[in-house]
Amino acid sequence: MNKIKLLTPDQAQKIAAGEVIERPANIVKELLENAIDAQATSITLFFEKYGKQLIHIIDNGCGMTQEDARMCFLPHATSKITSIDELTNITSFGFRGEALASIAAISKVELTTKTAEATTGIHIKYAEGTITQEMPVASNVGTDIKILDVFYNVPVRKKFLKQDETEWNQILSLFYAFCLSHQEIAFKLYHNSKLLFNFPSTQTLKDRITQIWDYNFTQQLLPLINSANTKDTLPWLQLNGFITNHHFWRYGKNNIFFFVNNRWIKNQNLTKALLKGYLNVLPPGKFPAGIIFLTIDKTLVDINCHPKKEEVRFTKPATVDIAIFNAVKKTLENQVITTFSSSTRNKELPLNTANSFLNFSSDQMPSPPLNDFPLPTLSKQPQVFNVYTSVEIPPHITSYQEDNVSRQTSPQFLEEGSYILIGQLFNTYILLETKQGLVLLDQHAAHERILYEKFLKNFEKKEGTQLLFPEVITLTSGQILTILKEQTFFNNQGIELEQIGQQEIVIKTAPPYLNNTSLKELILDSLNFIEENEHLDKELFRKKLNEHVHSHMACKAAIKAGDVLTPTQIHQLIKDLQKTDKCFICIHGRPTMWNISKDDIEKNFRRR
Ligand code: ADP
Ligand code: MG
Repeated sequence: MNKIKLLTPDQAQKIAAGEVIERPANIVKELLENAIDAQATSITLFFEKYGKQLIHIIDNGCGMTQEDARMCFLPHATSKITSIDELTNITSFGFRGEALASIAAISKVELTTKTAEATTGIHIKYAEGTITQEMPVASNVGTDIKILDVFYNVPVRKKFLKQDETEWNQILSLFYAFCLSHQEIAFKLYHNSKLLFNFPSTQTLKDRITQIWDYNFTQQLLPLINSANTKDTLPWLQLNGFITNHHFWRYGKNNIFFFVNNRWIKNQNLTKALLKGYLNVLPPGKFPAGIIFLTIDKTLVDINCHPKKEEVRFTKPATVDIAIFNAVKKTLENQVITTFSSSTRNKELPLNTANSFLNFSSDQMPSPPLNDFPLPTLSKQPQVFNVYTSVEIPPHITSYQEDNVSRQTSPQFLEEGSYILIGQLFNTYILLETKQGLVLLDQHAAHERILYEKFLKNFEKKEGTQLLFPEVITLTSGQILTILKEQTFFNNQGIELEQIGQQEIVIKTAPPYLNNTSLKELILDSLNFIEENEHLDKELFRKKLNEHVHSHMACKAAIKAGDVLTPTQIHQLIKDLQKTDKCFICIHGRPTMWNISKDDIEKNFRRR
């Protein structure tokens, strides 16, 4: 019996739509591109329920004639090319004629449009592959398109939509990208009838950036030096834009945007090249912001390799990566030279590597903006090695109370009386003599482990202390939603959060050990963690979030390398460490101690 049957055009279109439209943000992208292709200078976006219920975009572009308005929902209906040969010279965003057909296949559409020549506009309702209503209407020149009930007729896709805030964050990133690449267009964005953004057109990219983020952020930006202007000139590639200086960082890569011939694209390799330029400039796990425009010869890039046109393919990808790396490196180095030479004349600078920051004296070191440890009070002495005598100073490390904790591993050799404290090396490592040899203990790693286990085992609600000056954090509305979903969790850690404005939350209480600055950092870090992990199963997500937040808190609250400790503090630290489950490794997986056996020491001195 024959098995093959042709799908109905309606079914085929729904399946094909999956390639282009996976989520509301994809629809927003297609509609914005159409508005820009129509030469709009003003675009207003309205959303309801984060785009799941309504996406409504109004532009003042060229509009469509009645006939075009009827045609535009058909598959492969486009006014932008007539043959594939035109692709190499394409200047419009669209060219496949697939977007509206795909969108109309999985949602209900209402379109009102009018050209400058027409006396009236046309209003069309479209659903399930057909025009269900059509009438002339009075309207402005331009196009007004409403997409309702995304995926109402494809339940399986609807089920796969992510949580509201994930979908919303995607829409916002996309919105920012279009605002960045089209400063000549005025944008407005409303959610549930509230105006969230109002960006009039600007003269410069920097002004647009200031509208999106704020003035403080703009102050951290360096114009990218186009290394294509050097002797290794690439006539086919120009780089422009801004990157942040070495004082700025974020916990995620959300603020890195690349545009190829003014199209926002996602490309891991370009991001990697950018980050490589920051090697040793930013601490591990911290990321810069960057808005980089690549202008590239059209014949050397394929924009038609991805159904959603989110990726492009370069003919010479490695060269493009190197150009980005060089430009970033040069921009950062140049900034340091400028800063450095204005403060210190006649000093030679190491210029040949991105590592040059490593060679600076401490006042030139890139210091992350938020860097604070509450315990203990610092005394930065030039001393390298503290040898202790029997004089003891009262302790001020908070001791780890007895917890009735079961222990699998316990370093027996560090029990009281089984070691002699030699001293502190570089104010960072504790040196102990035991019968078996020499033990070096990393004071920060050890204390971090102690605090982490303590925090994690302490399940009951922690009482935070009211902050005298509550810390305000400015976030996007999507981020606020994300963080407030975990409000109870943070509350149980002694961190009380409250939304105080459309884009602001305030931290009202702090758990023991953490100060305002570390708290702000903790919330930003957690936000990023939640965004990256919320796809996980609920229980696993909870467990991971708990671990993540506690390890962050432990890291911030722990004594750090460089802190001078008293013998009493050191003895207490060792005692507390012994009570932990995993005393040999710190929470980041590094060792807390290093044991050099007496045997090895003797062998090295050829005593054996
Ligand atoms: P493409 O953009 O690839 O041509 P679309 O399905 O996105 O395909 O749109 C089909 C056609 O509808 C476009 O080629 C254009 O002529 C017309 N169109 C769509 N949106 C608009 C708009 N906002 N303003 C004017 N014309 C539009
Ligand atoms: Mg299009």
